[in-house]
Amino acid sequence: MSLKEIFAQLNIFTQCGKYGVSLWQCPQFLFLIMGVVIIGSTLAAYAIGSRYIEEPQIVALIVLVVTAVLFMVAASITRSFERLAEANRMKSEFVSVVSHQLRSPLSNFRWAIELLMSGRIGQIEEKQLEYFKILKENSNRMKELVSDLLTVSRIETAELPTKKEECHLEDIIKDFIKEFQPFATASNVEIAFKPQLNLPKVLVDASQIKLVIENLLDNAIRYIKEPGKVEIRLERQNEQLYFEIKDTGVGIPKDDQKYIFQKFFRSENIMRHQTQGTGLGLYIARAIIEKLGGKIGFKSQEGKGSTFYFTLPIK
Ligand code: ADP
Repeated sequence: MSLKEIFAQLNIFTQCGKYGVSLWQCPQFLFLIMGVVIIGSTLAAYAIGSRYIEEPQIVALIVLVVTAVLFMVAASITRSFERLAEANRMKSEFVSVVSHQLRSPLSNFRWAIELLMSGRIGQIEEKQLEYFKILKENSNRMKELVSDLLTVSRIETAELPTKKEECHLEDIIKDFIKEFQPFATASNVEIAFKPQLNLPKVLVDASQIKLVIENLLDNAIRYIKEPGKVEIRLERQNEQLYFEIKDTGVGIPKDDQKYIFQKFFRSENIMRHQTQGTGLGLYIARAIIEKLGGKIGFKSQEGKGSTFYFTLPIK
């Protein structure tokens, strides 16, 4: 092992950065804290022992036993943390490798299907076209999944770039409502949008905020058992812009609510009816809103509907 490697091993910040967790969740840092606690406890045991026990050998024995027990507990806790942090790092790496590696074969696959469907390399029959359409639809779903995985991997490695620009959220929402109208009509869902007048612009990354709004709107329509209604509000609240989307859908069971922003989580009532979905949309939405300095949350009642909201700072 070279000197540089030894220094890297001793540098807590390098070691903690490797796991991608905060300092207080980092095994090496916790071990250092435990060390300080052990020294403190040893000194305290010595001070108390020498005050109340006359035999110096017994005091030394007590101090030794206390230190040994604390050291063993600390080592075992730190080892468990290290294992968890390592598993977490490997999982993030796996997501990153899979999403990067799947991207190019998938785009080749999509390109080939489109070429075949266009009829430019040979006429195709009506029946064949139907199967190509199924292939194209499924490749679109795969593309969405890969793109979500890539975003998750960028969030976890803190590599999600943010290009801030001034945006009118109102226009973005209107465009999405237009885009989702055929899906809403097919699902028997009515969409109403009530923006306040003269809303200010916000400084955000347009592509990222679009991802958030698209996901919230998609969920609101998708998780309604027809017929139903989606109401979107946008208003200024002091120095914040407040976005709210309310649906008359299936709602989220109380026991599942605490997991809703977790990666890959899908509630049990949804999984029974909707097989399509990754459980990544809300995790991504929360990471984006928090990165932009806002807050995201929801209220929901099973069988009645859900209201998701987020805020963004105006300046
Ligand atoms: P996906 O929609 O792909 O499953 P999301 O991260 O967007 O992933 O949502 C996670 C889970 O949260 C969903 O599977 C569903 O259980 C629940 N959920 C989100 N939005 C709604 C909603 N509007 N109504 C009911 N459940 C919802």
